[in-house]
Amino acid sequence: MKKNASITRSVFAASAATVITLALFLAPGLMAMDLVRDGKPAAAIIIPANAPQSVHYAAQELNHHIKKSTGAALEVVTEDAADKLRAQSRIHLGNTRAARSAGIDVATLAAESFTLRTTDDALIIAGRDGPGDPLNSNTSAGTLFGVYEFLQRQLGVVWAWPGELGAHVPRKSNITVAASLDIAATPPFFQRHARHGLGYTSAHPALGFTPAAAADYAREQTVFLRRNRMGRAEKFAYGHAFTNWWPKYGAEHPEWFQFFKGKRGPATPKSRYSMCVSNPGLHEKIVSLWLENTGGKSNYINIVENDIVGLCECERCVAWDGPTPPNHMRFYAPNSKVAGTRFVSDRYARFALAVQQLAAKHNPDVNVVGYVYFNYFQAPTSGVKLNEHILLGFCPSGGWYPRSPEEHAWHQATWKGWRDAGARLFMRTNYFLDGYCMPHIFARQFADDFQHAARNGMVGTDFDSLTGQWAAQGPSLYLLMALHTRPGANVDALLAEYYSVFGAAAPHIKAYFDYWENRTMTDRERINAIFANRVASRWRSWAKAAHRVFPEETLAASESHITHAAQAVANDPEALARVNFLRTGLQHAILSARVCALLTTADAASTPERGQAALLELVRFRRAHERKWFSNLNQLAWVEEASWKLTHETKQEPDNWP
Ligand SMILES: [Zn+2]
Repeated sequence: MKKNASITRSVFAASAATVITLALFLAPGLMAMDLVRDGKPAAAIIIPANAPQSVHYAAQELNHHIKKSTGAALEVVTEDAADKLRAQSRIHLGNTRAARSAGIDVATLAAESFTLRTTDDALIIAGRDGPGDPLNSNTSAGTLFGVYEFLQRQLGVVWAWPGELGAHVPRKSNITVAASLDIAATPPFFQRHARHGLGYTSAHPALGFTPAAAADYAREQTVFLRRNRMGRAEKFAYGHAFTNWWPKYGAEHPEWFQFFKGKRGPATPKSRYSMCVSNPGLHEKIVSLWLENTGGKSNYINIVENDIVGLCECERCVAWDGPTPPNHMRFYAPNSKVAGTRFVSDRYARFALAVQQLAAKHNPDVNVVGYVYFNYFQAPTSGVKLNEHILLGFCPSGGWYPRSPEEHAWHQATWKGWRDAGARLFMRTNYFLDGYCMPHIFARQFADDFQHAARNGMVGTDFDSLTGQWAAQGPSLYLLMALHTRPGANVDALLAEYYSVFGAAAPHIKAYFDYWENRTMTDRERINAIFANRVASRWRSWAKAAHRVFPEETLAASESHITHAAQAVANDPEALARVNFLRTGLQHAILSARVCALLTTADAASTPERGQAALLELVRFRRAHERKWFSNLNQLAWVEEASWKLTHETKQEPDNWP
């Protein structure tokens, strides 16, 4: 490896609450250290005698990848047994004596942080390691993250999709590390989260995974997400906060609730309601409940409004509102819940500020967590000044990709407006629910959004949700993963990393996905019209309209890219297997589009009989390929139950039918 390289990577610094440091220095003139030489182990892995689970797992992951690269398995020993080792080089993982004598005090590291350093004959990876399951997002696994950073940078590992085939580990016979490596890193966002989508159930389970495959898929995806360093440094709760307040407090304090059409509280006993967010009694109650429940020690107060537009018409709420922006309704469909509503962002901003300032008297570090959503989505216009203790989930209604340039700019201006008002933000969008199992690719437009947010106060993410379409939507999903650790990276370079796993077929695979991305991006008006026409939902019932957006013949025509790709790697079995993985995704999309055309509930002529043969072919295909992990089939079954005319047949368990 190069001895003179000096690389410093700066990541967007957001605020004092998310300190970001990531730097790598390779000083000149120092010796290199072998970990593997000529395919034989030249190092051992040393862990503390009382290492937590996540350090044991870090050792296992390090060894797994080194073995996959070189064929050599390193010995793993605890510190007290290390004296008897024959290997010259040592890799110390976790809070070892070697780490402490190198001056690394893991207790002073922030959650999920690590230091990666080499001395003359040792590589030290020591992080902040909490107790708990290393695969759990809430476990601080700094050492494990240090191992992944090492594998990515030093071994060139690319985790492209869940499972062994998707884990690209370049083959080597030697692994050498510069004896001058010094990296300290904290993940750039304190929460990095894409909802896993593993809980989908359907009334038609035969369309989904067999139970055994579902369990194995869940495991593989969970491992994959950790390899991409999904997790969180701090747990904070949010979600619609006042859903049970009316039955609890409505009789005694109707003034805390919306004043709408001349009355306080829900319009009908069962209907959703919003709060009278300007009411000082409401603010006091929220803070007193927080004091009661946590003694004021919790650093987060959830004030996310109920799942309904802000409706209060009382004088004080209205007085808190700012001027309506001229383009307030510009990008909402006439049937949107937002259509025709009042612009109320300023009252919600002032609500957050009022609760935060009241609570700060008890705990200056407290943060209030709200949403920007519905008719309080666009940035405030009254000049209200927020602060870093106001944390807002960015939750658009609509705004699906592809967007027109104007719509895209409008969304980014909205984000920027809230940031300029002083709030910190987390991305809480639904965009990854889109696309069904089709090559609906919005990789670059999404990345542009993510990077814009990262430059403007984004401290966390919560994407709803992964649908697991790894073969059909690979580039979008790869960027979703990679940008969480490298938000400032060049997007084409990240995509090139993804394509590199296909070896010599990379240019053909790039052409294949560029074709679909270009088609998706230039097809916006037609896609939107189809969804309006078919009355299909982008997140719930795509399979009513998929055949219209992606006709079977158009899908089939794109297979020539895959065929050329396969020819280019005919002599590279691993790359060929990956190309065939994408082919499985495409063939599956073709079969699914065929069934959509025959069974969609949007066509009065659909009958179960008409689609029976095609449906059987699709389900047999799913059963034959389910263990490739090309798709989360249970998510598809959930979409299809809301999209197709089905019979009792698919209500059977997948182990019993067909
Ligand atoms: Zn009010």
